Amino acid sequence: MMAQYLEIKAQYPDALLFYRMGDFYEMFFDDAVAAAEALDIALTKRGKHDGDDIPMCGVPVHAAEAYLLTLIRKGFRVAVGEQLERPEEAKKRGYKAVVKRDVVRLVTPGTLTEDALLDARRHNFLAAIAAVRDDWALAWCDISTGAFHVMPLSRARIGAELARLAPSELLVSDKVDEVLRPVLEDLGMQPTVLGAASFDSGSGESRLAGVFGVQTLAGFGDFARVELSAMGALVDYLDITQKGRLPRLRPPRQEVVTRLMQIDAATRRNLELTASLQGGRAGSLLSVIDRTVTAAGARLLERRIASPSRDLAVIRERLEAVRWGVEGDGRLRDALRQVPDLDRALSRLGLERGGPRDLAAVRAALAQAEQIHAQLTEAELPALVRQAAETLTGQDALLDRLDAALVADPPLMVRDGEFIAPGFDAALDEARTLRDEGRGVIAGLQGRYAEETGIGSLKIKHNNVLGYFVETTAAHAQKMMSPPLSEQFIHRQTTANQVRFTTVELSELETRILNAGNEALQIEKRLFDTLRDAVMAVAPALSELALALAEIDLSLGLADLARARDWCLPRVDDSRAFHVEAGRHPVVEAALAGDGAPFIANDCDLSAEGDAASVTLLTGPNMAGKSTYLRQNALIALLAQMGSYVPARAAHVGLVSQIFSRVGASDDLARGRSTFMVEMVETAAILNQADDRALVILDEIGRGTATYDGLSIAWAVLEQLHAENRVRALFATHYHELTALAGKLPGVRNATVAVKEWQGEVIFLHEVRDGAADRSYGVQVAQLAGLPQPVIERARMVLDALESGERERASPKALIDDLPLFSAAALREVPPKPAETASEVESELRALNPDEMTPRDALQAIYALKTKL
Ligand code: ADP
Repeated sequence: MMAQYLEIKAQYPDALLFYRMGDFYEMFFDDAVAAAEALDIALTKRGKHDGDDIPMCGVPVHAAEAYLLTLIRKGFRVAVGEQLERPEEAKKRGYKAVVKRDVVRLVTPGTLTEDALLDARRHNFLAAIAAVRDDWALAWCDISTGAFHVMPLSRARIGAELARLAPSELLVSDKVDEVLRPVLEDLGMQPTVLGAASFDSGSGESRLAGVFGVQTLAGFGDFARVELSAMGALVDYLDITQKGRLPRLRPPRQEVVTRLMQIDAATRRNLELTASLQGGRAGSLLSVIDRTVTAAGARLLERRIASPSRDLAVIRERLEAVRWGVEGDGRLRDALRQVPDLDRALSRLGLERGGPRDLAAVRAALAQAEQIHAQLTEAELPALVRQAAETLTGQDALLDRLDAALVADPPLMVRDGEFIAPGFDAALDEARTLRDEGRGVIAGLQGRYAEETGIGSLKIKHNNVLGYFVETTAAHAQKMMSPPLSEQFIHRQTTANQVRFTTVELSELETRILNAGNEALQIEKRLFDTLRDAVMAVAPALSELALALAEIDLSLGLADLARARDWCLPRVDDSRAFHVEAGRHPVVEAALAGDGAPFIANDCDLSAEGDAASVTLLTGPNMAGKSTYLRQNALIALLAQMGSYVPARAAHVGLVSQIFSRVGASDDLARGRSTFMVEMVETAAILNQADDRALVILDEIGRGTATYDGLSIAWAVLEQLHAENRVRALFATHYHELTALAGKLPGVRNATVAVKEWQGEVIFLHEVRDGAADRSYGVQVAQLAGLPQPVIERARMVLDALESGERERASPKALIDDLPLFSAAALREVPPKPAETASEVESELRALNPDEMTPRDALQAIYALKTKL
């Protein structure tokens, strides 16, 4: 057995081998050590190899999915080695023959199909990157839904596209792995490296033609060699991991970068589109806007957020559909709630991993689709909804057949039987009657035996070891084991309290029942296969239907959100406008609502004239709401172009081609680069890529270095964005010096987030107004944060000195040298003067009434006061 184990294991060096032994999957050697630790299960040993103990651990087959999930999450790949014959069959070949085993499946993060292992509301993409000379392509598929896409792209865009898709697993060749290492590390991705043969474009093409059963792929699109290479690698990998059972894939769809709004990886992180900065879905845009009621709808929403469109017709069509939802009564959503995950059911059926419940899911989806279609009776449906509605019908024959064939609530597994409804198949009904009658006969037999033996408590029972048997309590056993009863009742087993017997009659009956039961199960299996084939025959149409349902669900979900949150229909057009009235940040607003606090809405106008730039410089203290304001406007552009209403009173968005969002020097130690370096790399990317339709959000750029360096860089970046890139931009900064640019550059204006000062403290109003902030209020904010009072006093003192020094143009160093040394004791010695002991100067000052003084009086008063000091 060990020899067999080692032989199989040698073929899967980089996966854990689950080696099936009876009711367990066992692991040995290093696999066992790694798995025992990862799964927190006992590590034992079994036998010896080369004189050493063999470490071993195992998981029960019935609970294997949960363990698989843990292992996959922890980055392992698992080769599932099954027994390919029953032990009896092996024995026939010889007393010591080992049961035949082989790997039936390689489980990897990108090739999961089990519901238990997947997040229903998210995609599970497997992606491949190929390079042919300088051409690059990215292909990706989700085998749990059949989606299959390919896109040629420049090397520079790879990071952004991978960030958009967030694949669970990425396939690359050695060569590509080497070139892309920094990009992948940046994204925290560990690619699966395949041999060059997997990426051969020629064999890729024939592999693909084979999968789709076509002579040429021309019908699907005009693919470049590099695209064939990437797609071919995907298919090859599926072949390896699924052991030849290829999943059902839709024909590949070519995506065109220019039809989508471009959002790079850093921007996605910053805007917290599908995951918050802390990681996880909570706190992301996705989490607050997801009101879909089906898993497929949720997946579609995730896709839309990740890739808003820049195609005006597409955007308007989607917005129309949402508007239809806003104006409707939302009743359709009740029907949608009943729609099961058709995509994933189809995928399992296609991989021969499906069961009766997947057929039932198809039935339920078709039934709901009919219902929804029947409700879509309005004469004036928006185009998107009308198209979807048309896709929802036409499967009556399949629905009728499944309806007639299946029981209401079938079991998960085919081998459990009892999923075909009575009356569907005559042969099945007959076998079942025989089997069930047998059970009735057994009940009769028990009564007869009880009478014949005079033992009223005698029972006929069944278990897997003995089959049917007669059971009495130990007290009656003696009677059964003595003549005449012992002639009829053959002793089988004695347990603590019971004694068990069989009879010739009982075992004959058992054989009859068993045969009938087996016969019934065989018939059910055959029927399952024909039903599955019938479903798979129309799989492409069913995929379309699933997508149509998801589209309706998404439109209605967004409509529900718009109504509940009072969002508005944005005006999207071909201009370079960007004008938001009373805009809000959806996530911050939701968080504040939880605390019962209001969110202050703010306008934003970045509309650009002709091909000029339009930049708003935003100043204001920390915590005033600058970042929130910046992000909310980026999110409004993004929401509008994904086809959603937006959190504002009104919004006019001229098509945005790219969104860039950068934050100065957030700590990024985890990725091991100097924070300032990260900031500059990201800023460089904007200056190199942004076109005049880009929307740029820069938050405190330059913060990561010394003041004058930072100011100079921010200054130059702003000038470049203004003159060369000519973007629409919001630029938050704490360098007040920059606000002088507003007077010099056309298209640059100042805005500030207002605060009020009251009794030495700042009050944040969160209102964005025209103009520049007068000061930073840093010391006040520090006070709010709880810095000790002596430190605050001292900071005020230093600040005063610096500010007056600046007016007098003294060098900061000289000023600092002049300041008395910091001493907490000294500060404590000078308590604030109470009003009674006010100095003469103070009392005189109090008595003055400036409103009633002439300038001349005022000047005299100042001179008089000065003499009293
Ligand atoms: P800054 O970038 O100026 O330091 P933030 O944008 O991080 O400030 O905002 C600080 C906090 O102020 C946020 O966490 C939020 O709770 C609150 N806030 C920001 N904007 C608003 C607003 N418009 N209305 C209400 N509260 C806001």
